[in-house]
Amino acid sequence: MPFFNRKRKEALTPVIGTLLCQARGCHNPTALQCSYVDKRGRVCSGVFCPAHWGVVDGDVYCRRHASTLRALGEAAQERRALPDVDNRGPSLVNWIADQLDSHLRKMLGDVAHGEERILVEKDVKLAYDAHRRPRWERSWKLVETTGMVLKVGIQVDERDDAMVTVRVGSEMVAQGVPPWIARRHSGDEIDPDVDRLRRELFYRFLEENIQDAVKRMRDRVDSPTWVA
Ligand SMILES: [Zn+2]
Ligand SMILES: [Zn+2]
Repeated sequence: MPFFNRKRKEALTPVIGTLLCQARGCHNPTALQCSYVDKRGRVCSGVFCPAHWGVVDGDVYCRRHASTLRALGEAAQERRALPDVDNRGPSLVNWIADQLDSHLRKMLGDVAHGEERILVEKDVKLAYDAHRRPRWERSWKLVETTGMVLKVGIQVDERDDAMVTVRVGSEMVAQGVPPWIARRHSGDEIDPDVDRLRRELFYRFLEENIQDAVKRMRDRVDSPTWVA
């Protein structure tokens, strides 16, 4: 049930709820149920307090679904664009893309020639591979007036929302389950410093593989034998 006035909701923050927050270690009795409803009409059972919920366009969501809606941008206005309630794909793509964004802009800027420009896709889009398999994606493109020169895509397959795939052009250059997801699956508790180090290594692994592929493809495009 909405706890705010829908006519003026953009001007209002949600009223405090009356449920017990589900966040670990939190006992706030001021939680609300997440408002997310997926394309099949299934609702999210998450219940969180103001310290642990996210607000998008005046509605309260659990953090994952707030992140999913922000990741999808305008596409989130359409219910049929909304992923299954338990799918973390869009929010994971967005998270990784945000972490790599400045590095990728610089990387593409460094290899750009003359009139070439960088186009950055800020929203997560549902794209299809050659076999019509759906995947969530954000991309960075190097374009010139005659078309695309290079594309880097961060992708998560809709059916395996833990696996991150990076493609440069159509070539897969890196793939892996982020360490924080692998850890959650295994249930292991780890030291925060080790956690931070593993995250850094994961991002560096992605960046280095992208860098190698971008350089290789750039060289190929620049090579006179390729043009001939
Ligand atoms: Zn809480
Ligand atoms: Zn939710």
